[in-house]
Amino acid sequence: MVLTSVKIIDTKYFRIIMKITKIEIYKLNVPLKEPFIISLGVIKTANSIVLKIHTDHKIYGTGEGNPYMFIVGETQEADFEYAKMLAKLLLGKNPLEIENRLAEIERILKFNPTVKSAFDMALYDILGKYTGLPLYKLWGGTNNREIITDMTVSIDAPEKMQKDALKFKNAGFPAIKVKLGDNKKNDTARIAAIREAIGYDIPLRIDANQGWDTNTAIGTLKALDKYDIEHCEEPIPRWNISDLPYVREHSPIAIMADESLFDHHDAFRLAKMQACDYFNIKLSKSGGLNTALKIVSIAEAAGIKSQVGCMSETRFGLTALMHLVIARKNIIHFDLDSALMLADDPVRGGIEYKENGRVELNNDLPGIGADFNPEYLEKMEKVIIS
Ligand SMILES: [Mg+2]
Repeated sequence: MVLTSVKIIDTKYFRIIMKITKIEIYKLNVPLKEPFIISLGVIKTANSIVLKIHTDHKIYGTGEGNPYMFIVGETQEADFEYAKMLAKLLLGKNPLEIENRLAEIERILKFNPTVKSAFDMALYDILGKYTGLPLYKLWGGTNNREIITDMTVSIDAPEKMQKDALKFKNAGFPAIKVKLGDNKKNDTARIAAIREAIGYDIPLRIDANQGWDTNTAIGTLKALDKYDIEHCEEPIPRWNISDLPYVREHSPIAIMADESLFDHHDAFRLAKMQACDYFNIKLSKSGGLNTALKIVSIAEAAGIKSQVGCMSETRFGLTALMHLVIARKNIIHFDLDSALMLADDPVRGGIEYKENGRVELNNDLPGIGADFNPEYLEKMEKVIIS
């Protein structure tokens, strides 16, 4: 028989033994060009957790998580401690078995999605490097869509916001996102001032960051209708998710779930309640790429479109997110502006910012296709778990 000479099953694909040998954990601090202000707080420095997961195969994976305490309840300090604990849990185990590794992490650490996202990202980076494929190719995507990021105006006095919005429009950004969430009178004055300056030929999106109560949300959204607003993120507090379908029903402006959407369970609940028109997916809320892929699947099933967003990640975290964007056409809005707000760029490779808000991934390196500049990382506090 001819078949006997054919190696039908290559066992190496069924028993890949790779082991995690050591994990480096860094506190990465990158100054912002100017403070970023939303209704929940002020950010002056981007404080991330960066991991390097090393293996016995001369492959390592990198991950970044950027915790916003007032959204996820995590700090860089806390995540540094959690990362040490999770690193000890993963030592000696196979990084390619991502589902198993993430389940083990989930079992011992509830919540804390941002530190989990750094591990998830590093594990996928290893998988991509091992298979020789960029992550978007691993997920069956084609890098042929135009990806354009909006730019965000911090909440401030109307005159300052008007100036910033005009500056971003003149810089060529195709859409402007505005932070609101104060009260009807002040927020309407802000949008009126911005529209007066930038005109109506550019989309405006708003984000209340949970700042309104139910009646204020409905009243403000109705008042803002004449300013041609594309969508509104998280109008009311996340604990009051049961009111969100009511707000959506009475709002002339489409509703996007952000802080009320962390993981796939939230996505399913929001979809079932018909509470929103859009999802805003962030790796620091979902716990990483694995769950983000599940959220996109729920969005597709429910007829909901998605946006991807960021906290204050560097180009590294945004590049990981870009692979998801390229791989999944359900994602139609892109809020990938955090690295533009940083005063330094500690990243090599990865996404590039082009004119008019275009974001491109022009390398086909395996895995995430980006890494941190070692000289920049060396200046940061670190610990090695081995
Ligand atoms: Mg938001």
